[in-house]
Amino acid sequence: MKRFYIVNIFLFLFFALWGFLTVFLSSHYHEWGFLVVSAIPFFVSILFLNLLLSVCCVLYTLFLVYPIIELTATLLKLDFDALRRDIIEYSNRYMIIGIEKRRGCLKSYEGAEVLLLLPHCLQNSDCLYKVTWDKLDNCRLCGKCSMPDIVEIKKKYGVSAVVVSGGTAAREIIKQRRPKCVLAVACENDLISGLREVRNIPVIAVLNQRLCGPCRDTTVDISVIKSYLDRLIK
Ligand code: SF4
Repeated sequence: MKRFYIVNIFLFLFFALWGFLTVFLSSHYHEWGFLVVSAIPFFVSILFLNLLLSVCCVLYTLFLVYPIIELTATLLKLDFDALRRDIIEYSNRYMIIGIEKRRGCLKSYEGAEVLLLLPHCLQNSDCLYKVTWDKLDNCRLCGKCSMPDIVEIKKKYGVSAVVVSGGTAAREIIKQRRPKCVLAVACENDLISGLREVRNIPVIAVLNQRLCGPCRDTTVDISVIKSYLDRLIK
């Protein structure tokens, strides 16, 4: 693998240098034919850089080129949500491997280091109690939505659990709390946006279920959240 990186870096530098040289020659001798030739080494160098990036930082590259993937999926009329679910599943697997590699083992977090982010649509839409931000304890545990299970998880694992009203609020809470790991519950679209934006901490994504349509009275498979926390928390 080390040899692969070295060869790629060398080839990238070689073609980039070749490109710069042809541009320099064309401007110096006013030979604009050189400029046409320079496009080839520049193109090849970008190719090698992409190859290098895609092997070194697979997830980074995946989310970087995500708009292109989306465009291709639209052109080919592919099932968007299925594609997003595949990417989320792949990202989760990659995050778990990353945590194991960096921290020695997966079960390496204190409860307080993990932030459980939940969408506000998880709350029953007729509920009169405010549970967003750090107001989860306002829940009267009536059982009309998944909040009582979240309250129980919060107590059992000692994680901080926050219900957010959208992506901006989620970003803000991550900035404030500085967790070591995030377990985020949301729909495919919001999870992909979050995964593309949060780059410095591992984010495990859990999909919600939208039995009443989007953004209203959603639910989540509590056993999935618990199984991730069982694997992450010491
Ligand atoms: S369980 Fe809590 S949040 Fe859900 S409807 Fe009842 S009081 Fe509201």
